[in-house]
This record gives sequence, structure tokens and C-alpha cells, in this order.
Amino acid sequence: MPADERVWVPQAPGVWFRPLLLNTVSGGWCNLLRVRKSGVLSRHRHPMVVVGYVIKGRWRYLEHDWVAETGSFVYEPPGEIHTLTVPDDCTEMITFFNISGAMIYVDERGDPVGYEDVWTKIEMCRRHYASVGLGASYVDRYVR
Ligand code: FE
Repeated sequence: MPADERVWVPQAPGVWFRPLLLNTVSGGWCNLLRVRKSGVLSRHRHPMVVVGYVIKGRWRYLEHDWVAETGSFVYEPPGEIHTLTVPDDCTEMITFFNISGAMIYVDERGDPVGYEDVWTKIEMCRRHYASVGLGASYVDRYVR
């Protein structure tokens, strides 16, 4: 957990990520996802594998009956579409994710509406770190 709040990069209202590794060699990234709102965050698909570990709080995918609790290990198989939701009684969730490849955001029909990869993540970090006074090059420490 960073001592400096500015290390958290805003992703959406109530949602932040904190980069740990932005891997331009294999194409992917590791980050902490922090959510301080409830409800649906996103529906998405990964072309490659994702693993995660829940550090705080709880969340679930609408498509599954299991709940990711504090201490849970999460495996997301390539190709699966899932809808991340945080329950009303969870004020903050923090999860470590190791994401290979990309996040492909989809609508209710499963059609693509956007994507993120290591390059869009680096750009988001650059813009944010420049705007909060850490400097655009602050992100470089996470890039390999
Ligand atoms: Fe996912």
C-alpha cells in the first residue's frame, strides 16, 4: 500500500488502480484495484489468463455463485466474460490482479466497447502522475 495517496491512479468514480508492474515484454500488468463504491464496475473479457488475490473487502462476478472474500485466490480463464460487482455492505475492496494481455470491455450482448492493455495503462499513469505533481516519468519505475 503506497504511503502517498497520489500513487493511486483514478480509473472511474470510486475506483483506482495502483501499478506494481507494467510489463511491455510479455504484455500485461500487475496492480492493486481499489473500489470504494458498490454495484456493477464493469463487464469484460480477457484474451489471456488473469489471477488475483483479495487483500481487503469482497466482490463477486454476476456470472458465478462464488464470492471473492478477503484472502481469496481468484483465477479467470481466457475467454470468459464476467461482470464485476461489489456488494452494498463493502465500503472498500482492494484486490491484487496479475492481468495478461488485455481487458476487453463488453456490453450486455458481449460486444466490445473498449479495451485496456499495458500501453493504455502506462498512458493513464503518465497523465495522472503529471497532473498530481509526481511527474510523468514517475510511472517509469513500474515499466519493464
Ligand atoms: Fe476479469
